Amino acid sequence: MVSFILYQSNFGDNIRTLTYIFGDMLNSVGAAGKVFEYLDRKPQVSTEGELKPDQLTGHISFNNVNFAYPATPNTTVLQDFSVELKSGQMTALVGPSGGGKSTCVSLLERFYEQRNGDILLDNKPLKSYDHRFLHKQIAVVSQKPVLFSGSVKYNITYGLAESVNFQEAARKANAHDFIMKLEKGYDTEVGEGGSRLAESERQRIAIARALVRQPRVLILDEITSSLDPDSENKILKALAGCSNQTLLVIAHRLKTIEKADQIVLIADGTVQERGTHQELMDSRKSYYKLRENLH
Ligand code: ATP
Repeated sequence: MVSFILYQSNFGDNIRTLTYIFGDMLNSVGAAGKVFEYLDRKPQVSTEGELKPDQLTGHISFNNVNFAYPATPNTTVLQDFSVELKSGQMTALVGPSGGGKSTCVSLLERFYEQRNGDILLDNKPLKSYDHRFLHKQIAVVSQKPVLFSGSVKYNITYGLAESVNFQEAARKANAHDFIMKLEKGYDTEVGEGGSRLAESERQRIAIARALVRQPRVLILDEITSSLDPDSENKILKALAGCSNQTLLVIAHRLKTIEKADQIVLIADGTVQERGTHQELMDSRKSYYKLRENLH
């Protein structure tokens, strides 16, 4: 039994203390990464689920979900929200700022509980799954991932077996080439919080870190801000069509998600439109207008 107590001053006055007690070192180290990424958001849900199935397809459905944040209970953020994320497919969530895209991610991570409706993973409510199991299956790469002091390799593989194929993950994350150009390749020290690397390099390492763990559901939450379009394109191309993974991409940059199997446009907490890029362009509604505004 290993316990972690992490103290972190989060760039401000707040000092948060988080205690995690886990059954084995691997889980502990893996979860520590998430803790650093989400210091500002404490789960507000029960963690009593027990399911840990051997097989999971990663199919997710939001069924008529209603949600308001605990701090603002009178403001409905998601309303009658229904969406399906299919295994082996890439779904892109797009829409105006404040529409509810990141809220969907927070619900998938079980930081909050919906008020009504269901969120199902493989047809079972999210809350029925063991919390740690769920966090291994659903990986989120956020806008500003945090790296640990240590080598590039350590940052990708911490807590995993030596034999893990980290270079393949780095290739998919479009990180391998720049890593090989670093002074000591994968053994290069990244500095405190990854300070010796550019933002886009940190981002790509974080993607490799998620990929090497082979989660059933991979969520890329606004990774576009620090990646150049070429890099983002390459990453999405490498990830698209991974038959055993559900890919959810939250994107402002609409150009890069044109190849998504499904584009879902959310505004005011509801689904306004869904379809492929071509279908949405042909219907000449909100998505079409959003695209037009960008030119
Ligand atoms: P953006 O594209 O700007 O990231 P978004 O579509 O991801 O926006 P959300 O971040 O999900 O939108 O926000 C949806 C609504 O919920 C907004 O009105 C936002 O102000 C509100 N909101 C977000 N987080 C919280 C919170 N922790 N407490 C209260 N309200 C919140």
